[in-house]
Amino acid sequence: MADRRIRLRFSGIVQGVGFRPFIYRLAVEHGLVGWVRNRHDGVVVEVEGPPDSLERFLADVEKKRPPRAEVAEITAEEIPAGGERDFRILLSDKEGAKSVRIPPDIATCPDCLRELFDPGDRRFRYPFINCTNCGPRLTIIQDVPYDRANTSMACFPLCPRCRSEYENPADRRFHAEPNACPDCGPRLELLDGGGNRLNAADPLGRAVEALRCGWVLALKGLGGFHLAVDATNDEAVRRLRARKFREEKPLALMVRDLETAARVAELGEEEVDLILSHERPIVLAKKKAGAGLSEAVAPGVPNQGIMLPYTPLHHLLLQEPLRVLVMTSANQADEPICIGNREAVERLRGIADFFLVHNRDILVRCDDSVATVVAGRKRFSRRSRGFAPKPLVLRQSYPDVLALGPQMKTTVCILKGRLAYLSPHIGDMETPQARDFHRRSIVLMQKIADCRPGIVACDMHPAYFTTLEARGLKDVRVVPVQHHHAHIVSCMAENGLSGDVIGLAMDGTGYGSDGTAWGGEFLVATEDAFARVGHLKTFLLPGGEKAVREPWRTGVSLLREVFPDRWREVAERLELLPEKESGRWMERILSAGFNSPPTSSLGRVFDGTATILGLHRRVSFEGQAAMGLEAVAGEKNGLPYPFDILEGENGLVLDLFPAVRALVVALERGVSVEEVSRSFHTTVVEALTATAVEIRRRTGLNRVALSGGCFQNRILLEGCLEELGGSGFEVFSHEQVPTNDGGVSLGQAVVAGARVKKGL
Ligand SMILES: [Zn+2]
Ligand SMILES: [Zn+2]
Ligand SMILES: [Zn+2]
Repeated sequence: MADRRIRLRFSGIVQGVGFRPFIYRLAVEHGLVGWVRNRHDGVVVEVEGPPDSLERFLADVEKKRPPRAEVAEITAEEIPAGGERDFRILLSDKEGAKSVRIPPDIATCPDCLRELFDPGDRRFRYPFINCTNCGPRLTIIQDVPYDRANTSMACFPLCPRCRSEYENPADRRFHAEPNACPDCGPRLELLDGGGNRLNAADPLGRAVEALRCGWVLALKGLGGFHLAVDATNDEAVRRLRARKFREEKPLALMVRDLETAARVAELGEEEVDLILSHERPIVLAKKKAGAGLSEAVAPGVPNQGIMLPYTPLHHLLLQEPLRVLVMTSANQADEPICIGNREAVERLRGIADFFLVHNRDILVRCDDSVATVVAGRKRFSRRSRGFAPKPLVLRQSYPDVLALGPQMKTTVCILKGRLAYLSPHIGDMETPQARDFHRRSIVLMQKIADCRPGIVACDMHPAYFTTLEARGLKDVRVVPVQHHHAHIVSCMAENGLSGDVIGLAMDGTGYGSDGTAWGGEFLVATEDAFARVGHLKTFLLPGGEKAVREPWRTGVSLLREVFPDRWREVAERLELLPEKESGRWMERILSAGFNSPPTSSLGRVFDGTATILGLHRRVSFEGQAAMGLEAVAGEKNGLPYPFDILEGENGLVLDLFPAVRALVVALERGVSVEEVSRSFHTTVVEALTATAVEIRRRTGLNRVALSGGCFQNRILLEGCLEELGGSGFEVFSHEQVPTNDGGVSLGQAVVAGARVKKGL
C-alpha cells in the first residue's frame, strides 16, 4: 500500500516536558519520516509511512506519552505525502518564544533514579541528575523564555558529554535545561551551625551521619530550605520543636518508599496514587499507631503529612539506615521559606546544627504542596510545588486580570484568555519578607503569563496589605471582590459552572459587604454578582482578631449567648477561663460590645465549641482548635443537636446556639467528648443541608457550591457531600485549588473578569 502522511496537532502541556524527543523516538522506531516542531499553541507533527506503521505509531503516542505531558486535544488530518528520507526535530523560528509555558518542578523520574543508583553510570550518586522528564523548572527560572541562560544553571557551562546529550534529539536529555553531571554541574557542601564550610570529602555521608546522631540538618531543597531530623529520634524531634519557637503545628515526614509510608499512615488506593504522583505533594492521611515515630511529630491531630523523596538528593539521604525524616519548611512562624544559602544561615542560626547546601541557586520560592483525599478526590490545603504555575483551564475566556489574594494563605492569580495562572503559595501578609515575596510573585506571574493586566482584583477589606497594594498601583482599574463571593466563584470556576448557584461559604472571618465579619454565608451567586440569602446567627468576638489565637474567648461568647444569666458559673465548671477574674472582664467587654465585633463565622463557632469541650484554649495557629475538634470526634454517628432556621431582616438566619446549649448539657451529664464532638459535626451538616433545602424551595436552584476554610474538615465535607447529595442537590466542591484562602485569588480574578466582560 502507498505511504500516507498525516498532520497531528497536540495542545495542552506539551512543551518543556520531553514531548518532541518522545515523538522523534517513536517515529524512528516505526520507520516513519517527517518532522515535529513546537508551535506557539502546542506541538505539530507530520508523519509519513505505510498505513499499518502509522497506526501503530498513533497507538503508541496514545499509550506511552511522556509522564509530564498533559494533552488537552489532538487533531489529525490527512495531507499529501512529502517523501522525506528521515524524521527530524525542527526548531521553530519562535523556539523558546514567550508563549512556551514554564512547567512546574518535577520529581526525579524512574530513568534518572536507575542511573543514580547504577555504579556504572557517570552520574552514579550525583545529587543533581535530571532529564526532560524530571528536575527543577519553576524554582530555577529568572526570566522567560525557559532556557538555560535564563535559569540558575546559566553559570554552569555544559561539559562536552552533557552538551552532546543536550543537542541530540534522540537523547532523553535533549534540551533538558538543567542538565548537569559531576564534571560540570552543581556540588554539595556541608556547613556547620555558624555557616562555616566543613572540609568534608563526602558532605552527603556526613549529613546522613549527623541526622543519625540526632542533629538538626537544614537542607537546601527544590523550592527552599527544609529542616530535617530523624523522625524516630524523639529527643531530636523535640529539640527541633523547641528551637522552632515551640510551634505546635504538625510536622511533615519524608519517607523512603511507599512501604514505609504505609507503615506510618493508612493509605487507600487514592492516597497511594496521590503520594506516588509526579507532583509529590505532602499527603495527609490517617496516622497509624506503632510506627515507631516520635510522639512529637504530629501531636493531637488525626492525620500525618507524608511525602516521598522528590529530588535525587532526597533519595540519597533516605538510603540505609534512615527511613523516615521530619521534613519541615525552614522558616520562622509566618515568614516565607528560606531560599538563599547565606539567608538560611542567618535566619536558621540557633535552629540548625548543620547545613547541607549547594551552589545551584533557588530563584523562586516554592513550598511543598499539601493535599488529602476526601470522598475519593484530591483536596489541596496548599497548592504549590509540583503544581504551580500550571494554569487551570476555564470554561470561557476573560479579559486579562491580576488578582492579589486575601491576607492569609495568599496566592496571586493571573487570568488570561481561558487560562488562570496561580502563583506558588505566598502565605500570610504579616511580615516584611512575606510582603516582599508577594510583590515578587506578581512580577514573576506577569512574566509567566506574558501580560500586564490593567484590571486588578483584590479583597474588600480596606486594611489588608493586598488591598492597599492594589490601591497603590498606577493606571489600573481596581475591582474589590467580597471574600466569600470569591470563595464560591473559585469553586464555580474550577467546576466550569455558570449561572446561579447556591453557595455555602463556611470560613474563618472575611470582610462582609456591610462591614461586619462574615464567615458562615449562604449566597446565591453568579460569577459577577451575589445576594446574601442567609447566614449564621451572629455573636460577638471578644478582642476581635485576638480571639483567633485565644479561642477560649469565643467559647465564652458562645456560652454567654446560650446561658445569659449563668454563663460564668458554667464556664467555671468547664474550666474555660484562664483566670478567675477573666469572667468579670469578659462580661464587661461583651456587655459594652468593646472591641468585640459581631461575626457570622462558622470557623469561629468550631473554635469556640472546641474550647467548651476542653480542647485548645490557646492555639499557636489559626484553625488549631477546630482541627482538635475534628480530631476527637468519635466514629459512631452521633445524634444531631437541635438548631433553628429563622427569618431574619435580610434572609435566613441559621441559629446553632440551641446545639451549643444542648452540647453543654450533654457534657454536664457526662457524655464523652468524642461523642459530643461527633454529634456537633452531625448537627452542622444537617443544619447546612436544611438551610440549603429552604433556599432551594425559595429560589428553585439545585446546584450547591461548597467553599471556605471549614471544608478542610473532613467530617464536615464528607457529611455535606453525602447529605446534600442525598437531598437531591448537585454538589460541587474543590479539587484543583484549596478550599481555604489559597484559592481566593482565583475567585477574585474570575469575578473581576466576568464583571468587566459584562461591562459592569
Ligand atoms: Zn529524569
Ligand atoms: Zn557534564
Ligand atoms: Zn476565606
